[in-house]
Amino acid sequence: TTFEGLGLTDWLVRACKELGMKRPTLVQQGCVPQILAGKDVFGLAQTGSGKTAAFALPILQKLAENPYGVFALVLTPTRELAFQISDQFKALGSEVNLRSTVVVGGMDMTTQAKALMQRPHIVIATPGRLRDHFMNDPGIPDVFAKAKYLVLDEADRLMDVGFESELRSVFETMPSNRQTLLFSATMTSNLKALHDLSLDKAFFYQQ
Ligand code: AMP
Repeated sequence: TTFEGLGLTDWLVRACKELGMKRPTLVQQGCVPQILAGKDVFGLAQTGSGKTAAFALPILQKLAENPYGVFALVLTPTRELAFQISDQFKALGSEVNLRSTVVVGGMDMTTQAKALMQRPHIVIATPGRLRDHFMNDPGIPDVFAKAKYLVLDEADRLMDVGFESELRSVFETMPSNRQTLLFSATMTSNLKALHDLSLDKAFFYQQ
């Protein structure tokens, strides 16, 4: 299998090659075509499996076709993961004029709020800090009103850290016709509850 074979466009195939990605990993083979086809995805995948590119590649492809407003919100449990995801989006999206921002704790709220109000294409956030923005500024939830993708990265850890109520408020803020892409290393019981809540028709990927 090749990146072309997954339905990815020339410039993304080139970006993969330039980053030393010779062929798609299993999670990329399983999930990229489904995401491009518009399906929700529930993927069981470990860190190191290539799951970040599995969602970043199709999101970048769709974004380049029709860039407007905030396109995708990626929620992840830690600052460190947020910056790693941001780096992959930037590396894979270097050929397009990608605007992205990271919203995590420990950084100035006012600067972050201004960055959000500019409506970047991709927002990568930890749920706690995003919730703080929602509560501080009633204009912020509207920034996500037309978003196309909600990504829950390391969803088992998101639930472990007790972000469930934050996640539910994000679900309500995002348009119901968005695509939801959930990745988790393990299937936990509280994740099953989340699965039932919003992903009953999702493509289920397990390696
Ligand atoms: P992740 O599972 O998303 O944390 O990715 C782990 C690492 O694998 C990252 O450093 C990626 O750049 C790298 N990677 C992702 N996809 C591929 C691929 N198809 N071939 C080689 N490396 C990859």
